[in-house]
Amino acid sequence: MTERSIYAWFSLAVLVAACGPLRPQSGTEPPAGLAPAVGPLVEAGARVARASPEISKIWAGFWQAPHAFGIAKPREAVLVVSEVAPESPFAALPRNALPPALRGRAYVAHGVIQGLYATQGNYFDLHARIVPGTELTVVFMKADPEATVEFLVHEAFHAFQLRVFSTPRRDDDAFDMPSAARPEFTSLIDLERSLLASGLEPMGRDSLEQVVRSYLAVRQRRYASTAESVRGEELHLERIEGSAHFVGLTAGAMSADPRRPGSVEKTVLEHLTMEMEAPDARWAVRMRSYGTGAAIAILLGRLNVVDWKTRLQDGATFHELLAGAVPLRPGEAEALARHQIEEAGRD
Ligand SMILES: [Zn+2]
Repeated sequence: MTERSIYAWFSLAVLVAACGPLRPQSGTEPPAGLAPAVGPLVEAGARVARASPEISKIWAGFWQAPHAFGIAKPREAVLVVSEVAPESPFAALPRNALPPALRGRAYVAHGVIQGLYATQGNYFDLHARIVPGTELTVVFMKADPEATVEFLVHEAFHAFQLRVFSTPRRDDDAFDMPSAARPEFTSLIDLERSLLASGLEPMGRDSLEQVVRSYLAVRQRRYASTAESVRGEELHLERIEGSAHFVGLTAGAMSADPRRPGSVEKTVLEHLTMEMEAPDARWAVRMRSYGTGAAIAILLGRLNVVDWKTRLQDGATFHELLAGAVPLRPGEAEALARHQIEEAGRD
């Protein structure tokens, strides 16, 4: 796949990420001595830098603190945080105008930056080559600093996936749209999402395993009549986008000041219960994958599957990992699925 098509592939992700839930503006005044466009960049950058040691614990090998990154305000300024100075036209920001986490490692450039990829005027570059000897991810600023941290770490995780994950991309253009547009497909997948949502509620191990078995049974039922191309795309997107969503949300929560307990679960729950308004069935499969993958990531943690990240990285899908953690008993799948479908029909 060419570099250009990699960007096209990920630009879909940006569109989705850009539609994420908005949070209230922080209302923080820009630090004294900085241009108005630079203040919010510095605030978001400082959050990332302060949370970096914790972010590095989310996924082995992904984020080494200190980690170089960039945040941009489209058409105005780009902040780069790096131990090594970026090339011209970046200039160091004055130490006395910076929070301690950024002193000696914050650089800004204004206007159009050579070597930075931008789409529709927004900087978004997974592998920017503006710092000698390294590649870094640069994203545009979101509505508030925490959402910006989520977005940056989500996209930086995609860069990590491209380097390290087994089969990080899927080059197959085939997708059986009619199979994914059938009302039965949609109603079963909505039932699966509501079962995943109920699995995120606090409950004991036995109850959780029961919910997971019901969920797996319904998905198995749906897969019996789903085209292979649709299954393949769904499993792939869930693995790639679901893991990036989980990692980004976790990093955002770590950077929150003060940290809000349960915020990752809450955001995933919102995603699972939101109505999907997608232009077609393929987009709907993509958009659901963020929430379903992240939900299974949380459930694998609760089920004490300690090596799920390594196994996902090595090629396993979220669905395989969950089915391995809570195996369906012989012969129970059909009855479980039927029961759940009847229950849903009564609502
Ligand atoms: Zn993504």
